Amino acid sequence: MSAPPIDTPGPALPRENLATRLAIRIGGQAFLRLRSVWQRWFLWVLLAVLVSALLVTVVWLAGRHEAEQVQAALDRDTADAAADLRAGLQRNVQSLHALQSTGLDSKRWATESTALMRGHREWLRLEWRDRALRTVAAADTPYRVRSVDDDNRRGAQSDVALACASARKTDGAAYSPSHYVALPDSGGIEVMELCVPMDNGDHLIATYTLRDVLIELVAPTLRRGQEVSLTEPDGTRLASVGTARRSGSRVFSTQQLIDLPGAALVLRVDGWRAAPDVFPNLLTGLVTAISIALVSVLVLLARDTRRRLRAENELADALAFRKAMEDSVITGLRARDLQGRITYVNPAFCEMVGFSAEELIQAGVGEAPYWPTELAHEYQKRQTHRLAGGMPPREGFESVFMRKDGSRFPVLIFEAPLINAHGVQTGWMSAFIDVSEQRRVEELSRATQERLQASARLATVGEMASLLSHELTQPLAAIASYASGSLNLLQGARGDGAEVAMAVRRIAEQADRAGQVIRSVHDFVRRRDRTREPAAPQALIDAVLPLVRLQARKLGVRIDVVLADVLPAVLCDRTLVEQVLLNLARNAMQAMDMPELRDRVLTLRVARAGRIGTPDAPADTRQWLEFSVADIGSGIDAEVAVRLFTAFFTTRADGMGLGLSLCRTVVEQHGGVLMHEPHQPRGTVFRFTLPIA
Ligand code: ADP
Repeated sequence: MSAPPIDTPGPALPRENLATRLAIRIGGQAFLRLRSVWQRWFLWVLLAVLVSALLVTVVWLAGRHEAEQVQAALDRDTADAAADLRAGLQRNVQSLHALQSTGLDSKRWATESTALMRGHREWLRLEWRDRALRTVAAADTPYRVRSVDDDNRRGAQSDVALACASARKTDGAAYSPSHYVALPDSGGIEVMELCVPMDNGDHLIATYTLRDVLIELVAPTLRRGQEVSLTEPDGTRLASVGTARRSGSRVFSTQQLIDLPGAALVLRVDGWRAAPDVFPNLLTGLVTAISIALVSVLVLLARDTRRRLRAENELADALAFRKAMEDSVITGLRARDLQGRITYVNPAFCEMVGFSAEELIQAGVGEAPYWPTELAHEYQKRQTHRLAGGMPPREGFESVFMRKDGSRFPVLIFEAPLINAHGVQTGWMSAFIDVSEQRRVEELSRATQERLQASARLATVGEMASLLSHELTQPLAAIASYASGSLNLLQGARGDGAEVAMAVRRIAEQADRAGQVIRSVHDFVRRRDRTREPAAPQALIDAVLPLVRLQARKLGVRIDVVLADVLPAVLCDRTLVEQVLLNLARNAMQAMDMPELRDRVLTLRVARAGRIGTPDAPADTRQWLEFSVADIGSGIDAEVAVRLFTAFFTTRADGMGLGLSLCRTVVEQHGGVLMHEPHQPRGTVFRFTLPIA
């Protein structure tokens, strides 16, 4: 199967531009289709015209051939008839020669000649004339009443004399030109004289009726259905027999010159055929039948072409539909042949991997350009397995692809064998779904889930803290009253007693402080808005320093406190802010608890801050002080930084992972922000802001 052409996804175009391009493309396609339809039909019309011309020519030729045949037959028959006519006339001359030898008795001659005339209907009269052409005896045909008198024929005597002179000269028979003899009752007849010189110098004159010549001397078959006539050489019709011409019929004519001594006649035959002859003979019939068959085949072919055209149109529509569908789906599609060559990719796939269709199709057999280098080997094995006929899982499988820019992304792959129209597998068709967005959403929901769990645990911790604070108030109150009792007893003591009194005072202070912490926590957990009060930064630092120093001494850390000269008080819950400072300082010192680290310094700094705010929450009009706690410890790597403020996240075996999370909550409750950044040259610095009172 050859892959259909694919448009590479070009750069995004403005919407109107795309619409215009689409319109031009659709218009162009319509024009091309119209042109191909027109071309095809033009060929068909040309073929039909040529076939029609051929058929007309063949039918015409067949008709002409048939006419020629008829003409030839007629010519033949006429030539035969002319020969018969000449032979008949010759025979008659011989009969007349026989008559002259019978003696010169006029009575006997008349009897003989009358007898002879019985056998020759074509003769009208026989005369025996002397040398001067005076009539000695005469006999008339028994078939007619004597109707021609000699007076009537006087005008023709010169013709007869001429014929006799010529006969005598040639010593043979000679004919006079034909002439018309009027009959008393009906019209007249055309006659011709034959002069045969006799041995004694007399003449025998036979008068022929031309019409009877045709009847007697021409075969009757020729007259059947045809008109046979004798004419002058100039075409003047003298006598005719046979069927008269039917109207609407085609005439075939032929003529033969009958050259007689002294006279020339033309035998003319007119035959006809009914016109027009649709099936005149077998040939024309055959040609017509073939023509009809040819035209039928043409019609069938034309119908077939129309059907094909319709099917082609439907196919083109289906293809366009398929293309539109392929272009619109967001699922990547790829077809491979049985050698593993890519034969087709859809625009969605190209967009997914960032390679153009040409690049992918020209990649050839072997590694696909979208395989991550580190996984290529594994994918190669998978491909070999697939091409060897291994069926992929129906529910699809997950894989990782590489974009052209080198970035990886997860995909879900569904594969199915590609079967052609003959039911033979020609390759594999695969559908790809980019699941990176899905994975991101899953990750997000997992994080939310974790946060929810943490919140639940925090709530429990809060409950516990609340309970603890309640439980601890009693013992702390007892410690405080025992301490003040002891102080009373030690009043006025000196030496060691004074030092014990000092220690007991400290115990009383810390017990008091512990009580305050517990109250603050209790309030915090209960979310009761503690009354905020203005507190000097120095006082806040001083409050935590003794405790920080205790641990610092243990870890060998020097503490630097840097305070700007004149600093305003901040509005805050003192105990909680002290707790935040204590917590940050403790974390900082623990981060510096590394054997190889010398000169461990913890820097506490307070300064004025600029306005704070984020794009989401614009800075308010309050002014701020910034507290920072810097160390030169291990620093925080990126992995830890991501989860730093997550509740219960800790890297220490004994850690709770609640410190930073609580610190941030406290700072944010005051409207400030808590952040951290690397400290130069090493370590970390945590900063938080508090509003100025
Ligand atoms: P805990 O102190 O109980 O571990 P925290 O929330 O205070 O809980 O701290 C969480 C984690 O943050 C610590 O385990 C530590 O890995 C890291 N951390 C906090 N402060 C610092 C610091 N100054 N330097 C390096 N890492 C720190």
